[in-house]
Amino acid sequence: MCPRCSGIGRVVTPNTDAFLDLDRSLEDGAILLPGFGNGQYWYRQYADIGSFDATTPVRAWSPDEREALIHGGEAAARLGRRMPKDYEGLLERFNRIYIHTEDEMSERKQAVVDQFTTCVVCPDCGGERLNETARSVRVAGHTITECAAMEVADLIPVLRGVDGPASTPVVTSLIERLEALVGIGLGYLNLGRATTTLSGGESQRIKMVCHLGSSLTEMLYVFDEPSIGLHPHDVERLTGLLRRLRDKGKTPHTRASHPEPRPCLAEGQIACTSEGWWLIGVGRWRRGCRFGQLVEPAVAR
Ligand SMILES: [Zn+2]
Repeated sequence: MCPRCSGIGRVVTPNTDAFLDLDRSLEDGAILLPGFGNGQYWYRQYADIGSFDATTPVRAWSPDEREALIHGGEAAARLGRRMPKDYEGLLERFNRIYIHTEDEMSERKQAVVDQFTTCVVCPDCGGERLNETARSVRVAGHTITECAAMEVADLIPVLRGVDGPASTPVVTSLIERLEALVGIGLGYLNLGRATTTLSGGESQRIKMVCHLGSSLTEMLYVFDEPSIGLHPHDVERLTGLLRRLRDKGKTPHTRASHPEPRPCLAEGQIACTSEGWWLIGVGRWRRGCRFGQLVEPAVAR
C-alpha cells in the first residue's frame, strides 16, 4: 500500500489560492477561511500582531509578506519583523484545525475542507495505490496495476498461467472468487474499480462472493432485493450463489417487497424466493397471512 495516500490513489491537498481574496485587506476580510474574518476568532492572530499591514489589499503586499501570511516558518523569519513565538501561517493552522485533527468531521467542517482543498492524484504512486516494491512486481508479465485494470473475465486466464507451489493456494483461491464474480454476471468489473462507483446491486453481489469464502457458519445474511435489475439469466446465477451460501451452513435471507394494493412478486423475486425456502410475510398479505407469519412459497405466488 502506498504510504502517502494510504492506498486510495488520491490525496487531499489544501488549495492555498482559495484562502485569500487578494483584492481585499485583512480588515476587509481578505482571509476567506471561516473564523478568520475581521472580528472573528482567528483574526487577531494576523491583523493585530503588527507584522502585516491590515489596511492594504493583500495584492499590494510584497511576495514575502504573502508567503509569510500563508506559510509562516522561514518565510516569516525572512521578513525580519518580530513575529509571535507561536505564530502559525494560514496553511499550518488550516491543516491543524481541519486536516490533521482527531475530532470527528462535522458536516460544517467537511464543507470547509471541500471548499479549500483539491483532491489530486497521489504524486508518489501516480494513482496506482501501491508502494514502490509492489509496483515493481510482475504477475505473468503484468504489473499488479495492469491486472487490477483488466476485466475479471480476462484476468482469470492470466492467473491460470501463474504456477509454482508457493503461489498455488493464493492463485486457486483468487480464481475461485473471480469465477464466482463471473458466475453472478459481474465479469465486466475490474478489481481496481472504486467501491463508491459500484451500484447497490453490484456491491451486494460482491459481498455475497466474499462471504462464500468465509469460514464462519450459522450466520444470517440479509440481502435487500438482490435480484433487482438483473437479467433472468443472472437471477439464476444469483440463486445458485444463495444455495451455495446455504450449503455452507449459512442462512441467506432475501428481502422482496411488493406494491400495494395488488401485491405480487416480480419474476426475479419469485426465482429468489421459490427455492423451496420459507417466506416470512411482513405487513398485510392478501391471503390472510398475518404479520411476521411464515408462508409457503406456493402461497406467495
Ligand atoms: Zn499513493
